[in-house]
Amino acid sequence: MLHEYSLKADTQHFYNITSQVQEAVSKSGVTSGICTVFCPHTTAGITINENADPDVVRDMLLGLDKAFPDRPEFHHFEGNSSAHLKASCVGSSATIIIENGRLVLGTWQGIYFCEFDPPRNRKFYVKVSQN
Ligand code: ZN
Repeated sequence: MLHEYSLKADTQHFYNITSQVQEAVSKSGVTSGICTVFCPHTTAGITINENADPDVVRDMLLGLDKAFPDRPEFHHFEGNSSAHLKASCVGSSATIIIENGRLVLGTWQGIYFCEFDPPRNRKFYVKVSQN
């Protein structure tokens, strides 16, 4: 079953989407299987990281800004090559195991939609499979 979610991404930010992904799993009725979260955009991505201290994802954004600064040598007409670089760095999907109808995540893990080229109206997909 495929679930589609909309997200209004106003700022460069890691948006915590864990509860929406768990909701998709619960709605699907799947108790044991696999869940794929997919971002269909080229300047945004999906990652799993710490959800306890919000400074962690803030620091990750600072690190990505430092690693992939905007450069005058870039050719891309849209002027957002650093956002494309960050998106490829974090990747466009995450796969999470489902057991007993719940996402199998570590205690400190959350699932994040990573926006690198705001403001945008975004969407992401959650595909849940029983196996
Ligand atoms: Zn572009």
